[in-house]
Amino acid sequence: MFRTRRLRKTENVRRLVRENKLSVDDFIYPLFIEEGQGIEKEIPSMPGIKRYSLDTISKELDELVELNIPAVLLFGIPANKDEVGTETWNDNGIMQQAIRFIKKNYPSLYVITDVCFCEYTSHGHCGVLCDHDVDNDATLLNLAKQVISHAKAGVDMVAPSGMMDGTIAMIRESLDAAGYPNLPIMGYSVKYASAFYGPFRDAADSAPSFGDRRTYQMDPANRDEAQREATFDDEEGADILMVKPALSYLDIIRDLKNNFDRPIACYNVSGEYAMVKAAAEKGWIDGERVMMESLLSMKRAGADIIITYFAKEAAKVLSKK
Ligand SMILES: [Zn+2]
Repeated sequence: MFRTRRLRKTENVRRLVRENKLSVDDFIYPLFIEEGQGIEKEIPSMPGIKRYSLDTISKELDELVELNIPAVLLFGIPANKDEVGTETWNDNGIMQQAIRFIKKNYPSLYVITDVCFCEYTSHGHCGVLCDHDVDNDATLLNLAKQVISHAKAGVDMVAPSGMMDGTIAMIRESLDAAGYPNLPIMGYSVKYASAFYGPFRDAADSAPSFGDRRTYQMDPANRDEAQREATFDDEEGADILMVKPALSYLDIIRDLKNNFDRPIACYNVSGEYAMVKAAAEKGWIDGERVMMESLLSMKRAGADIIITYFAKEAAKVLSKK
């Protein structure tokens, strides 16, 4: 009989045959930055995660550097919203200020910005509205203005999340033409219209005021379509392809890993975080072990990069080993 248990007998032999390992190098930590002063607000559905203003965020950034987390993904919450989200391309907007602040004071942190409109529009949709739906091509024109403004502020990478068709091509061309040919793009290539985003909308003030995002985000039932979406982003020049959410979409992560010669990222979203936190708080699961096992499952599925609210906690666990 072949006995597979032979190689499971001790921790040392298990270490030798272990196929996947998490590392702090895998993590990107999302940060919510609100325009204003003295803001440090806990997000009720995401224990441990806060919104900060720029004058209170330093201790958070100090901790990230201390833990050796390589990168942050910024979400801005502006003081003023309007119909089209003009604040997104204001060179003095909250995102632009945040980029300059972090690059100046924490030059070792790699700064990635979320590029979208939903936190900046009065209606909470991801672009310019026309007949109660988002107008794809009008939104692309504003996206170009937004990324150039981030580039001027000194961002290291942009990550467009709005799922408009032609996003990557528009951003690549705009950046190249404006003199930023070396600025990489991480595409939210495969982003599903998911219920797992619920807590994020409290965190970023971005719930749509009417309808939902199903006319631009993907149907959770579709797998082949994910290949099409990723193919467009790949051909249009995305440097990294992302799948969002992560846990319910591990099959999609693996498909992309097998089929594309690009680094694959996944976004371990707010609802996935909240579920683990809530069950752990009730004592129903071992929160730390479930966190590490979920992150490992994303890695095993093929993610090279994991965007996660667990980054700090997981980094602490990894540094103990
Ligand atoms: Zn959006």
